[in-house]
Amino acid sequence: MKIIDFHTHPFITPENNSCFYKDTVTSDNFKKILESAGIGHICGSVIYKTQSFNEIKRLNREALEIKAMWGDFYTPGIHIHPRYVRESIEELDFMYQNGVRLVGELVPYYNGWSLYYDESMHAIYEEIERLGMIVSVHTDMTVDMNSLEEAVKRFKNITFVAAHPHQKEHYYKHIELLKNYDNYYLDLSGTGLFRFGMLGTLIKNAGSEKILFATDFPITNPKMYVEAVLFEGLRDGELENVFYKNAEKLLKSVE
Ligand SMILES: [Zn+2]
Repeated sequence: MKIIDFHTHPFITPENNSCFYKDTVTSDNFKKILESAGIGHICGSVIYKTQSFNEIKRLNREALEIKAMWGDFYTPGIHIHPRYVRESIEELDFMYQNGVRLVGELVPYYNGWSLYYDESMHAIYEEIERLGMIVSVHTDMTVDMNSLEEAVKRFKNITFVAAHPHQKEHYYKHIELLKNYDNYYLDLSGTGLFRFGMLGTLIKNAGSEKILFATDFPITNPKMYVEAVLFEGLRDGELENVFYKNAEKLLKSVE
């Protein structure tokens, strides 16, 4: 079956390699490793811990370079920063002209900000909405989920893809948001899938139409995620939705 990985962090510059065991993944074997796990297309941003907007622009340009190298294999995602509203809007326009339709994964704690909704983010979302782009956002215990919900509620025309199902209250909050907002999606990367029954329970509660297969490679082992999804006893239609149909539909909607 076709597999789209909605959440990865490719790189060219070694310092942007987010793998914990750096020697095992290089910009040369990155694509090959994913392909050998059965993954045929990836999305995602280049990440690095920085608060400088010039550095952030450098990450976005590296994503474009990777796109030029890998073509159809890769959907680049870019960063914005709420401390630099004007620059972020200019960056969105420039990247849109260069074919980019995905913002994120945004990782606020990597770049020294925290709220998904405030006055600055409002102005940035207005431009994202005008351009018709998708936003992928990191979530975990460090993220204020109320500010994310506020953004999702106010910008119904933007599709927000939350990353990481996690567990316990955090997991049930995702289910609540999936049920309450048509424009709220969840990707399976990071913490969550290793808890047996997580995906089946998610689908029973919130359907399979807004769940996206994702890994967070090279931080995680991509084959482990593929096998975990296969082992949850989903029906064929649900499996297809999760592995590629939902992502395909979403990406087509912003072409
Ligand atoms: Zn990530």
